[in-house]
Amino acid sequence: MISNALFLAALIATTSAWSADKSGAHHDHAAHSHGQGQVELVVQGDMVQLDLEIPMESLLGHEHLPKTPAQKKAMAELQAGAVQSDYFVSLPAAAACQLQSAQAQSDMFLGKKSEHSDLDIQLQYKCGKPAALQQLEFTVFKKHPRLGSLKVDMLTPKGQGSITVKPKGPVIRW
Ligand SMILES: [Zn+2]
Repeated sequence: MISNALFLAALIATTSAWSADKSGAHHDHAAHSHGQGQVELVVQGDMVQLDLEIPMESLLGHEHLPKTPAQKKAMAELQAGAVQSDYFVSLPAAAACQLQSAQAQSDMFLGKKSEHSDLDIQLQYKCGKPAALQQLEFTVFKKHPRLGSLKVDMLTPKGQGSITVKPKGPVIRW
């Protein structure tokens, strides 16, 4: 067992490393690859925190601003759906997790046109029975078949790791 203080130190160090990575990535949008998203996952005590960055192309099939009524409807649905509890992930029912906060941001939601656009999602859950919190399924693959993989950097009670999740194996366990 890793001590609480050590775990916290690791958490803080990892979180700031991630923040540094992220700000770098935002300056270089050419770095994003269509079909590939990135996830930062932290599971600590009764808390689950997710930070996802997914190319809009993988979610909508385009990165230009919506033109047709169908494209406008699809983007509105994405914007509304993205802050729902089970849109991107599903946590075990036995863990009794509640979504505490959710944010979804994209240049495209602001009507800004750029060559590449991402959807950035931050989700935080609090779980009533954290002992049952041992896996997570990425349900987003079912809704968005253009999304081929998610690279997940994670910090869980079992330690730190990195894994690439694909539609055929959307569940990670720890
Ligand atoms: Zn792109």
